Amino acid sequence: MDPNYDPQQIEAKWQQRWERERLFEAEADPGRKKYYVLEMLPYPSGDIHMGHVRNYSIGDAVARYRRMKGYNVLHPIGWDAFGLPAENAAITHQRHPSEFTFAYIERMRGQLKRLGVSYDWRREIATCVPEYYRWNQWFFLKMYERGLAYRKKSRVNWCPKCETVLANEQVVDGCCWRHEDTPVVERELEQWFLKTTAYAGQLLDDMKDLVRWPERVLTMQRNWIGRSTGTEVDFAIAELGEPVRVFTTRIDTIFGCSAVFLAPEHPVVEKLIARSKAPDKLRAEAERIRNSAVRARVTVELEKLGAPTGFSARNPFSGETVPVWLANIVLMEYGTGVVMAVPAHDKRDFEFCTVYGLPIRTVIVPEGGGERGGEDTAATKPTEAFTDYGVLVNSGRYSGLRSAEAIERMTRDAEAGGFGKGTIQFRLKDWGISRQRYWGTPIPMVYCPTDGIVPVPEKDLPVVLPPNVKLTGEGQSPLARVPEFVNTTCPKCAGPARRETDTMDTFVDSSWYFYRYTDNKIATAPINRDIVKYWFPVDQYIGGIEHAILHLIYMRFFTKVMRDIGLVDFPEPVARLFTQGMVIKDRAKMSKSKGNVVDPVEMCAQYGADTVRLYMLFAAPPEKDLDWNDAGIEGASRFLYRVYRLVARYADRVCGVPPWQAGGESERRLGPEERRLLRKAHQTLRHVTEDLEERWHFNTDVAVTMELANEITDLEAAIEEGKIRPQALKTGLDVLVLMLSVFVPHVADELWEGLGHAGSTLQEAWPPFDATLAAEEELEIPVQVNGKLRGRIRVAASAEEEEIRNRAQTEAAVRQHLDGRQVVKIIVVPRKLVSIVVK
Ligand SMILES: [Zn+2]
Ligand SMILES: [Zn+2]
Repeated sequence: MDPNYDPQQIEAKWQQRWERERLFEAEADPGRKKYYVLEMLPYPSGDIHMGHVRNYSIGDAVARYRRMKGYNVLHPIGWDAFGLPAENAAITHQRHPSEFTFAYIERMRGQLKRLGVSYDWRREIATCVPEYYRWNQWFFLKMYERGLAYRKKSRVNWCPKCETVLANEQVVDGCCWRHEDTPVVERELEQWFLKTTAYAGQLLDDMKDLVRWPERVLTMQRNWIGRSTGTEVDFAIAELGEPVRVFTTRIDTIFGCSAVFLAPEHPVVEKLIARSKAPDKLRAEAERIRNSAVRARVTVELEKLGAPTGFSARNPFSGETVPVWLANIVLMEYGTGVVMAVPAHDKRDFEFCTVYGLPIRTVIVPEGGGERGGEDTAATKPTEAFTDYGVLVNSGRYSGLRSAEAIERMTRDAEAGGFGKGTIQFRLKDWGISRQRYWGTPIPMVYCPTDGIVPVPEKDLPVVLPPNVKLTGEGQSPLARVPEFVNTTCPKCAGPARRETDTMDTFVDSSWYFYRYTDNKIATAPINRDIVKYWFPVDQYIGGIEHAILHLIYMRFFTKVMRDIGLVDFPEPVARLFTQGMVIKDRAKMSKSKGNVVDPVEMCAQYGADTVRLYMLFAAPPEKDLDWNDAGIEGASRFLYRVYRLVARYADRVCGVPPWQAGGESERRLGPEERRLLRKAHQTLRHVTEDLEERWHFNTDVAVTMELANEITDLEAAIEEGKIRPQALKTGLDVLVLMLSVFVPHVADELWEGLGHAGSTLQEAWPPFDATLAAEEELEIPVQVNGKLRGRIRVAASAEEEEIRNRAQTEAAVRQHLDGRQVVKIIVVPRKLVSIVVK
């Protein structure tokens, strides 16, 4: 074989051959065990970046390993092709977003192919084509039928200059991203929602089965969904003739309530304004507090804003009346949008009430903390909230109870008295999917003056995006300015009607894309049930930790809905999840503005794809951030040159030689150097195999493979002297190349061919490791006591002197000669003898 390693030539050659031989194509085959490897699909932004390369290098190592282990492996890729960046580019350049999107897909597809990842490209999908997004619309209709899609007024970020809705990420320091001097305000708009909250309990409970998901992701999801058990209780507002309903997890603290806090957008606020003595002032306060909430979302520390309404409410337990305030610390989306302020026992309430001078009253004391209670005097005034459970004081007939007991009894009493009940609340909100954007899936609904909201019938799907649209970035949804789109007929009465002009959040597209890969052509349904049944669940999903909540919750939600409409018969789509770390440089995220971007395309041109992939796997444990280092990629490159030369040097000598057969006569005939070579090969194989199964320390796998190559290099003299015969050498080199093939497939296939094998490494079985060969060499060492042979010990050839000394003294045959005598000295002659002197 060619003694010189030419990565560009080799990689082109093998990529063509793989494609010609359709090596990466997989079909459902119930007779074979399957393995579905999935990497998060990229957004077509124009160029792949190092984060992608890392993600796909990990996925490809796993896919290749599983193929060699005999699995039928599905390894697809596609494009998350709708979204704001293409729309923004379209606004700037006055061209259609699809032009950018498809050009970028084309370009990135070429870049991915240059990496040589083992994708079945026939399964490629792009979410922006009607053949795909019609099924988003279909899912939406199914959810609407089930009450899981609904419309309600909701707050949005609004730029008064653009006159448009902004996504949270377009709000920069509380201002519009395009108008840095214009503070973003909140507006109420009718929006479409998907009822994720209907599945909140299941999303939490089913986590018990996600045993192969990172604990960190599960914790983030648990907190995001945020189940809390508590009590709802009514506080009557006399002037209103109706109560407001408070939610609390600590009903035991209710005697310490100093005020009732309302979210500024709570519906009851309008009623209070109507009855207020100073309605204009109250309205202005509500507006001010509500708008502060926008900025609060993008700043770390929330400035606590509140205002008294002039009304008061009656505490149903103590009978006391307390003032009703508006407060920006209360979220309408959580609980009931009303809380009772108990400053002595809640940190946030404490800070708020301190700022506004509301009374602070202790009603819980630590167990064994005495009977102190009542209005705090200057001397007893607490300096911080006591938030633990304890014993109730100053709480009427409940005083003296422990918190847990009080919560139970007070909840029961509220239910019996008809002014409250026990309840479970979730922090999770319903998923607002309306976007006033063009480049997304049109929501398939129609507004009829007679029939109201009417869904588009299934047979009329897809509702296609009109191609001719002027994108300005200003005003309401771009679709609203396309009369031929907006004006339609009502599916019910056939009279004139208007189409919904909002499009769907692109997270809808990515909530089920991995099902579509299994049959991306089916036109009669979103998925092919039988084929899905074979491939699912996804055996291994790989992506960034930044998707721990939104995407990885939405995809679980979608699967549960799909199960409930009878499309699938399992509750969870992904059996095992891996979240890889970021690729950074100079300890900072790679970004154009910092000028620290390393371009994968350039690196492939300079070093070859194998080197880039090897470096991605070797430079850091896969779950940790990888700090790019130019010396590191140089090192990876040097290693591949070295391995190539090593194998090329002996390729002719071992070509056509049958591999060494384990066991029996041939094993006994192995010389010591041959043993050393095969032992190292099988120890390495054991490490890499166990690791690819479970631990995924790719960096150590590469390191031990490098050690094996070094060992073979160390044995070159023995090879030249004929102490290592071609059969043994061949076996060592075969194992080395097969292990390398999952990390650096191109050069591995070239070497494999050089070693005289036909075809690709991917068509080979993963070699089983031989435990006998991998076992450490053992030595038998005689032990003398005062110059007389008294016994023999067996130790590993690599055993340390300390271990040999201990073994010698504890060996039964030796010990009887040591009993009751004092050991003066122990001499260890390496590999030969242990001599013990006693007196
Ligand atoms: Zn603006
Ligand atoms: Zn109608």
